[in-house]
Amino acid sequence: MKMKESQFILIKEQLKNLKVQKGFYGEKLKDTDVESINSQEDFQKLPFTWKGDLREAYPLGLQAVPDGEVVRIHSSSGTTGTPVIIPYTAKDVSDWAEMFCRCYETAGLTKFDRVHITPGYGLWTAGIGFQAGAEKLGAMVIPMGPGNTDKQLKMMMDMKSTVLCATSSYALLLAEEIEKRGIKDKIYLKKGIIGSERWGEKMRKRIAGELGVKLYDIYGLTEVYGPGIGISCDFECGMHMWDDYIYFEIVDPKTGENLPDGEIGELVITTLKKEGAPLIRYRTHDLTRVIPGDCPCGNKYPRIDTILGRTDDMVKVKGVNIFPSQIEEVLSGVEGASSEYQFMIDHLNGRDICTLFVETNPGVNKYAAEIEIQNKFKSSIGISVEVKPTDIGELPRSEKKSTRIFDNRY
Ligand code: ZN
Repeated sequence: MKMKESQFILIKEQLKNLKVQKGFYGEKLKDTDVESINSQEDFQKLPFTWKGDLREAYPLGLQAVPDGEVVRIHSSSGTTGTPVIIPYTAKDVSDWAEMFCRCYETAGLTKFDRVHITPGYGLWTAGIGFQAGAEKLGAMVIPMGPGNTDKQLKMMMDMKSTVLCATSSYALLLAEEIEKRGIKDKIYLKKGIIGSERWGEKMRKRIAGELGVKLYDIYGLTEVYGPGIGISCDFECGMHMWDDYIYFEIVDPKTGENLPDGEIGELVITTLKKEGAPLIRYRTHDLTRVIPGDCPCGNKYPRIDTILGRTDDMVKVKGVNIFPSQIEEVLSGVEGASSEYQFMIDHLNGRDICTLFVETNPGVNKYAAEIEIQNKFKSSIGISVEVKPTDIGELPRSEKKSTRIFDNRY
């Protein structure tokens, strides 16, 4: 993705400001001659910022403005260790609302919409971001937060909510409850703004079908404002990203080299206007690609693909990058295959051998399924794999997120 002149000017200004500070980036940039950065290529030589760096800056090491200018903090989840604290200035809060409002407009919302917000409020950035954007648009906010399905559905009926903001799993739960209770004719929803989780095509069709709504994917992360830095449009061909606020790159997750448009890699974000906690080349660990060309909707903001997975889930075999969502896509096209699988890579006699264990549905001809999966895998992912069909329940289940790819080569 070519860096725009306007982006370069903002980045250079920001680097100059950060370099003379005592904080996190002052330290990180102390050996960098900011004056010598004069092109996109120069910028691409700057070191990345990792989530681990941000954790080390706990609690307020990332703060890049005087105390008096900070109006709020948010925090990313601390389940895997020390949380990351992100300070916001008044301008950061208003910029975020501006971007979120743009997301709603892209999804076709107006001030006559009634926006039912189920993501949580508090340290987490979700709920309040959805609310600020809707208020900026002039719509009516129904600030529910998560949980209490009875109350959610009552308010949804009585307030005649027209837009549901939710995670994909909560949207599915509500859709199923509406179906179960037979109250679909009392529900006025037209649109769903769905954020924060990777979700498959099968799930999307179920939610859209059962609720009778058009769905939009919203993108964001706490470290970079929160949800609302990009959203899909009516054409459902990737998400438009607000590149007047962020500059993004796609890099090879292993080498860190920038990749050409269209190639799948890790999304790396640099903030252009953020004051409280600016970020330079932040590794999101989200896998996606730049979608080249113009969107049929006419919106000129560049697009990235829906998030395809996390970099931790990706492996490279015979020069080809493989990640779970690709395998899921192959299996979703095979009638006899269930959703459960394990992909093993071993190194034998000087070459990489791939084996795919797949649970098949009862009564399925295992041999036919094996051949079909083998062929589809080869044609869509580009490498040969040995397929081992198993019965339902034979592969291990896990309470937590199950590991599906096992790299036994090293
Ligand atoms: Zn579009």
